[in-house]
Amino acid sequence: MTYKNILVCGAGGFIGSHLVKRLKTEGHWVRGVDVKHPEFSKSPADDFVIADLSRQIECAKVFDRSFDAVYQLAADMGGAGYIFTGDNDANVMQNSVAINLNVLEAAQNCGTHRIFYSSSACVYPEGNQLDENNPVTSEASVYPANPDSEYGWEKLFSERLYMAYNRNNGMKNHIARYHNIFGPEGTWCGGREKVPAALCRKIAEAANGGSIEIWGDGKQTRSFLYVDACVEGSLRLMDSDFEGPVNIGSEEMVSINQLAGLIMDIAGKNLTVVHIPGPLGVRGRNSDNRLIREKLGWEPDYRLADGIEKTYRWIFDQINAR
Ligand code: NAD
Repeated sequence: MTYKNILVCGAGGFIGSHLVKRLKTEGHWVRGVDVKHPEFSKSPADDFVIADLSRQIECAKVFDRSFDAVYQLAADMGGAGYIFTGDNDANVMQNSVAINLNVLEAAQNCGTHRIFYSSSACVYPEGNQLDENNPVTSEASVYPANPDSEYGWEKLFSERLYMAYNRNNGMKNHIARYHNIFGPEGTWCGGREKVPAALCRKIAEAANGGSIEIWGDGKQTRSFLYVDACVEGSLRLMDSDFEGPVNIGSEEMVSINQLAGLIMDIAGKNLTVVHIPGPLGVRGRNSDNRLIREKLGWEPDYRLADGIEKTYRWIFDQINAR
């Protein structure tokens, strides 16, 4: 294997910190960059730079050499409680667009040609995801565009930006659309957590026989992908000639009520579910893996129950360590 020098942007975040660990086990030289260190364990990166990539000068300093590969995962990000309330729209768009503009320009200036960009299933039109049993997320269905959040619009714009640099400036950027990634060392409290972590926390904290609250009627559907499979897919895409955009997600779709039931089984608890109003996002969403199967001859196959079991145990330990 040829060892590479690699930059991971957003290395203090959930997926970025897992990605750095994986790259280090493969022997690569890794620089991580983020506005913060990872929250739950020390980064094994060879070099970890604290920098705000939305500031052009700080970003340019991080690109002080040509990298064999850059993984750009830095974004202003959160679950439904952060993305869908509308309260954070201006920050989400301003920060993330600025990061992507700066990263592309700095990469080009130092002779770096290959950037992995983490887009999102949130780019898909809301109108194709109204039926919880038959959501449409084939890659080509993204146009005509109508994402249901400003976060989704920003991701779509930035996809186009990375592709424009490919067309006009000879870059080899690769784009993945992640679908609901979860796992240990992800945000599990504080308002930016996503549904698997939020439900694990609520169920771990509830006394057996008690109750938990779920936003909406719980019949909305999603698929969830364990972080190790997400990292594997990202590396495979980056090592391929296929530039995407391509879904990286699971096709194991469940309703939120079913997910809650699965976590209760793992926890060994019987709880009543109370449905309350809250920010929801689209009615149904599942990953469509036809294109990744065709282009990479591979798709994520990590069982939801196995990933949830590991995540529940980790969140349970976090709560008990408080
Ligand atoms: P995360 O919030 O844990 O990680 C993002 C990191 O970016 C954070 O550590 C944050 O501090 C950093 N960041 C934000 N602004 C920055 C700035 N100005 N300069 C430097 N660093 C900055 O999120 P994550 O779940 O690890 O997601 C990683 C990427 O994948 C994001 O781009 C996200 O939009 C995308 N994505 C994630 C999911 C998911 O389910 N987790 C789904 C779709 C897409």
